[in-house]
Amino acid sequence: MTFNTAQFIISNTDYKKCPPGDKPEYAFIGRSNVGKSSLINMLTNHKNLAKTSSKPGKTQLINHFLVDDRWYLVDLPGYGWAQVSKAKKRQWKKMIADYLLNRENLYLLFILLDSRHTPQPVDMDFIKWAGENEIPLAIILTKSDKNSKNKTFANKAALETRLKQDWGELPKIFTSSATIKTGKLEISDYIRNTSKQ
Ligand code: GDP
Repeated sequence: MTFNTAQFIISNTDYKKCPPGDKPEYAFIGRSNVGKSSLINMLTNHKNLAKTSSKPGKTQLINHFLVDDRWYLVDLPGYGWAQVSKAKKRQWKKMIADYLLNRENLYLLFILLDSRHTPQPVDMDFIKWAGENEIPLAIILTKSDKNSKNKTFANKAALETRLKQDWGELPKIFTSSATIKTGKLEISDYIRNTSKQ
């Protein structure tokens, strides 16, 4: 079952100002341009709930959306812009780490990777950091419509091989496309089911 209603609640730079943590929360993160806004829009049946933009360095904010009055979906700022200053990167890291390490109702972090590529160091570093800090996570391989099925499969296998170097048990890995609307049901069911646990 997909979601029925979704509304924007608030944007913050400080996790302490986020809405009261009284609902299971699911956050989304990934390199800029990975397709995060498009995925959130697809999951919530909105065209423009999360802003899609190909512009680098969009405002770095933690964005809360309330879904079906039962869950929060959280759009976290993307990482990996080459042209961003060291000071900005430090600011981003602190904001994200504070949020991820302190938000008590965070049930799961979805880390988005582009299905067209084999694992990139910046993504693997982030996944490793999240794992070491025991942040529950799942991975979504985005934009699968841009690949042949074989290519997506091969890149997923390469990711699994790479993850096995650090992980005893592999995280759940989804494949999605906001363009042809795949992965929507699987991801929303996963949110629904894990929030019951
Ligand atoms: P964000 O920066 O991670 O929020 O990425 P966006 O959602 O803004 O998407 C970045 C670009 O990729 C935009 O031009 C989107 O139209 C495009 N895009 C996003 N998802 C998909 C997808 O599933 N398939 C294809 N073909 N393009 C996508």
